[in-house]
Amino acid sequence: MKLFSGIYSAGLILLLLLSPTLSAQTLSVGAGDIHCFKLHPSPPASVPQGDPNIDAVYYAINMDIDYPARRITGSTSIGFKALVPGLQEIYINLTNTLACDSVIWQNTSLPFTHSSDKVSFTLPSPLSLNERTDVTIYYDGVPSSTGFGSFTFGSMYNHPSVWSLSEPYGSSDWWANKNSVDDKADSADIIIICDTSFTAVSNGLLISKTITGSKARWHWSTRYPIANYLISVAISNYSLYQNWFRYTANDSLPIVHYLVPEIINDLIPQLDKTVEMMKLFTGLFGEYPFIREKYGHAQFGRGGGMEHQTISSMARFDDGIIAHELAHQWYGDKVTNRTWQDIWLHEGFATYSEGLWYEYLNKEWLKEYMSLRAVPARAAEGTILVQDVQNVFSIFDFNRTYAKASWVVHMLRTITGDSAFFQIIREFHNAPGLAYGNASTSDLEQIATRIYGSSLAYFFDQWITKPGYPKYLVTYNTSRLMTGGSKTSITIDQTANTAGVVFRMPLDITLSTALGDTTLTIDNNTAIQSTDIITPAEPFLVQIDPEEKILKEVNITRRYPDELLRDGIQLYKPWPNPASDNISIGFELIQTKKITARIYSLTGELIAELANEELPAGVYTYPLTARTISSGIYIIQLSADDKQYRQKIAIIR
Ligand SMILES: [Zn+2]
Repeated sequence: MKLFSGIYSAGLILLLLLSPTLSAQTLSVGAGDIHCFKLHPSPPASVPQGDPNIDAVYYAINMDIDYPARRITGSTSIGFKALVPGLQEIYINLTNTLACDSVIWQNTSLPFTHSSDKVSFTLPSPLSLNERTDVTIYYDGVPSSTGFGSFTFGSMYNHPSVWSLSEPYGSSDWWANKNSVDDKADSADIIIICDTSFTAVSNGLLISKTITGSKARWHWSTRYPIANYLISVAISNYSLYQNWFRYTANDSLPIVHYLVPEIINDLIPQLDKTVEMMKLFTGLFGEYPFIREKYGHAQFGRGGGMEHQTISSMARFDDGIIAHELAHQWYGDKVTNRTWQDIWLHEGFATYSEGLWYEYLNKEWLKEYMSLRAVPARAAEGTILVQDVQNVFSIFDFNRTYAKASWVVHMLRTITGDSAFFQIIREFHNAPGLAYGNASTSDLEQIATRIYGSSLAYFFDQWITKPGYPKYLVTYNTSRLMTGGSKTSITIDQTANTAGVVFRMPLDITLSTALGDTTLTIDNNTAIQSTDIITPAEPFLVQIDPEEKILKEVNITRRYPDELLRDGIQLYKPWPNPASDNISIGFELIQTKKITARIYSLTGELIAELANEELPAGVYTYPLTARTISSGIYIIQLSADDKQYRQKIAIIR
């Protein structure tokens, strides 16, 4: 799901200039401002609990829509198996705002009670373990609308429209089911009866559309496992635009777009990108999970988008949201969190997949995209593992569940490398028990550890179950080596981290010198860690994680030598010394100064002038050849602000 409406924060729109042959393009990223909700989420009175004694295997949902009265008349046939022997007393979740008319079992009407959003009944005879039976529950009335608006009679472009968005707890607001995210039905039929002016869209394939008088009956059917919250209806005056994703020489997947007629034609170039994204994600993740059915979009009237299985509900159609909801078909729909505590497994992957699309368009854009996501990610409070699943705000907290979680996926890639990373995320939705089922963070951790070949427990622990991110306080000093080159002693301090958490990460330290860059990757794994880096010349720039591989904050302070700190200037020891050939004479300024650099004999005779100019702060190196100078001891003199700094050098010829 993508929560936000189409409002972008100007600060998050980044202009990226492409090569001169291409025009400037904009990488715009939805701001995810939770204040942009069109509907303010309201938590359910209590989180629904499905009957733990049954395993739901099949749903047939029938609903007759009375738009003018804002009412539905419906039934759900539920096929289920007993998870305990001798099961006789059963309940099904259904909101109290819908009146339950009857519970029918094998043509027999069973006595029932309907309270606390549950329909409870007793079977005439007990079920044995794993025995299947079916009941049909009939109801009518006004659906509830909890969470993000689980069932809405609304309008789009003045067309009467109806849509559902059950995630996370709202499915039983409008149809009867076992409302548990970890119990998927093996298949489902959704039958919608509505005025012929409507087009009714749902999951899977359209089996039939039949018209009787002023009513149309739309029969949709999916034969893939489906979680209750991913079953949806979207009903409006839609036009249909369809294209195809060809996945073998002879097989094509229909890609359908149900949008209101006012906007559909103008959006066709944008909608066509879905096919290219399908191609990209199939290559990266593996086969589209619902390849025998369809993928598509149904426009709806709330903000953002929702990854209903095989038919995402969409309020807008920018690249990011199309990629996001499509990626959810693998991460969220095919493999679904076992509990809502692990929602990051949906949203972190889908949000990162937007970046994968940008990376596909332009290699440099992933880094830009992650930099934009880093701003809300650093603002995330608490742990990615959701602490309060009663609160839908807490589950779908943008900073944590989307932005920071996308960074966790990115950092998993940082640590494992591309080859292992894509193997890990492919296996995550394909592993037996997880594919078309449910998973938790520990399932991902096990797969990642096995493929990476080394424990990643620390990684998931620090990023998922602990708050914050590393705040690297970096101090360093440099000194010239007698052997030439320079030694930088660097200390990385994480003691400013939230709650004292120490993050273990491979940390790139890059030193830039006149002779090129040197990068050392250290296994940064303690609160305070020091290392020395040798470079061929004095570094003029020290960077931590310059490739933005880690969610972090960096504060770099140089510890200056006393002389440099006092006068803003330091003359280095010449090298080599003694010298017979080329000599390197260097100094550093930490502020702009008018300087002279000269060589004198011991008797004060000027031998050479190396520099006489005003220079900005920086590290300066002047080569001098000893070949034209007689053997002897000489003085290198650097002058600035009426002060002199001297070093001796011996020339042996
Ligand atoms: Zn999402």
